[in-house]
Amino acid sequence: MKKILLRTLTVLAIVVPAAAAWMWHSVNTVELQRLGDDVAAITGMGGNVAVLKTSVGPVVVDTMTFKSQGEKIREKVEEFGGAKAVAIINTHYHLDHTHGNPAFALTTPVVSTVRTRRHLLERDAEYWEGDAASLLPSTTFEGEQLLEIGDKRIRCIWLGRGHTDGDLVVLFEKERVLHTGDLFFHDRFPNIDLEAGGSIKEWIGTIDRVLALDFDRIIPGHGEVSDKEGLRRFQAFLRELWAVGETAAREHKTLAQTLNDATLETEATMQPIVVPFVLRLDHDFVVKRAWEEATGAVVYTAPAPPPVPITSPQNAGRG
Ligand SMILES: [Zn+2]
Repeated sequence: MKKILLRTLTVLAIVVPAAAAWMWHSVNTVELQRLGDDVAAITGMGGNVAVLKTSVGPVVVDTMTFKSQGEKIREKVEEFGGAKAVAIINTHYHLDHTHGNPAFALTTPVVSTVRTRRHLLERDAEYWEGDAASLLPSTTFEGEQLLEIGDKRIRCIWLGRGHTDGDLVVLFEKERVLHTGDLFFHDRFPNIDLEAGGSIKEWIGTIDRVLALDFDRIIPGHGEVSDKEGLRRFQAFLRELWAVGETAAREHKTLAQTLNDATLETEATMQPIVVPFVLRLDHDFVVKRAWEEATGAVVYTAPAPPPVPITSPQNAGRG
């Protein structure tokens, strides 16, 4: 008995640190994928990052989950862009897109929607204390913000509710590349943050407005680089998912019945996103969210007073 215990402890003493080292290595490994002379995607364990090279320095969109990842991203951005980042754009407030911000110089301007900044302060305040507060959004807008940086034009556009109520998309005009943030999960089950104003119902129309923009390729929030066809497939999935929710509400189905009955043809290519003990985005998760939204089990009321932009000198004012 003693021998078995000793052997087990020995194995654990080897396996646990090895697993931790492997996790640490995986988390801090990021890869740069060139999409053109001046534009690239950076991928790893977190939301996808975009980098655009401009004549005055690189611009980075989103920064993943940990400051240590942000440092790896910063190195890739400086290597690709040939200078320090001149601006960060945050597509939305989730930590897997923003918590790497503090790895950048404290003076780096950060752009987001008004709603995103509000969510960061209201839902994630603890993280943004001390030095990190310098990397909170310093320019916020509603509608559209045009950034003219060096030789590039970058359109940051809010097109409606979806994943949250504050997601923006970033259009690199000349490169014809769009970063959608988490408005597009490519072949992955999406998170639907109803508590922060997300809505499956509204998301479908928001994607129509994204598709109306002029671009060729998409860097999604999660999953491989894609295009309009890929985004249309994701929209079809949301339509089918919303129909499940609406049917459940109309027929007064319980959540258990809905989970039992729901089939989604459009989920065939989708993979779950799993963070052990933290989060599981899969079939049951999305069906539950559809049921909660459609039956009114989770109701979102936008807080008052309405959010006001901080600084928006170049606001193109889509309203
Ligand atoms: Zn997200």
